[in-house]
Amino acid sequence: QAKARGRNGYRLYAPSMSGEGVERLRLETFLRRSLEKDEMFLNFQPQVEIDTGRLTGVEALVRWNHPELGLVPPIRFIPLAEDTGFINQLGLWVLEQACRQMVRWDNAGLHVPKMAVNLSAKQFDRGSIASWVGDILRETGLEPHRLQLEVTESVIMNTGDALAYINDLHAIGVGLAIDDFGTGYSSLAYLKQMPVQTLKIDRSFIKDISTDVNDEAIAIAIIQLGKSMNLSVIAEGVETDEQAAFLLRHGCNLAQGYYYSKPVLADELLARWREAEAVHE
Ligand code: C2E
Ligand code: MG
Ligand code: MG
Ligand code: MG
Repeated sequence: QAKARGRNGYRLYAPSMSGEGVERLRLETFLRRSLEKDEMFLNFQPQVEIDTGRLTGVEALVRWNHPELGLVPPIRFIPLAEDTGFINQLGLWVLEQACRQMVRWDNAGLHVPKMAVNLSAKQFDRGSIASWVGDILRETGLEPHRLQLEVTESVIMNTGDALAYINDLHAIGVGLAIDDFGTGYSSLAYLKQMPVQTLKIDRSFIKDISTDVNDEAIAIAIIQLGKSMNLSVIAEGVETDEQAAFLLRHGCNLAQGYYYSKPVLADELLARWREAEAVHE
């Protein structure tokens, strides 16, 4: 109908506003209200020691359940949140919820050693992150060393002052991991100056680890690099027994992936791991 009316000199939407643009605008409008409408929640994915099966930490992964759209995956709304600046509000919310959850698990008798939370590049645009991270840690009572922030290589390489902000975080006792390692371009010289504790091998290299010689070579190289730089290395996206065995054989004893657990709700994690960990005590 918009087209027919166009002849009369007006349109319902600008020609540049493609169907995709309309969809994006709608998503953006919904997204802006998602927190006040209580539509966001967190899932937590265990990180485990391969040889013992012990829980070494969890990663917080945000989920958006919209009444009309259903469950919207992070790959659809995180980039949008970054573009619109909403990521700052969302990121604060995620961090606070994640820290609170650690204290709740402590009180319920499950000691999760470490909470990993993802950070976007955009969250570095507002000056020192350490000040608001420090505020949240004080408010929630979580010890700084139990928090690990995950950033990708591009955050480190493309953010002005990244080194200074990361040093600030290090100074307050928060850990840092490089997420999706191997998919970006990090200068090893730069990496060496960073107070980073952990490299996360991207899941694209783990997927065909036992059949693709290139992926195998990359995974082994990252494990070796981590060793020589005294960093811990964790493999993402471990789905099979073979992958876990391969990693262990090559000196990587930390993993996260569907083989161990999908990301789950806080209570599910508690139910599954409270007894499992008690056995180890
Ligand atoms: P990521 O930080 O690399 O998180 C790992 C992703 O891999 C998660 O996807 C997780 O569900 C998925 N995954 C874990 N194990 C397996 C496996 O064995 N097989 C497969 N196929 N996938 C696995 P998810 O939750 O969809 O998140 C995607 C990305 O969205 C994250 O990648 C992260 O970059 C971003 N993200 C999620 N939550 C947040 C957040 O709170 N803040 C920010 N800034 N980004 C977030
Ligand atoms: Mg991550
Ligand atoms: Mg990753
Ligand atoms: Mg990622």
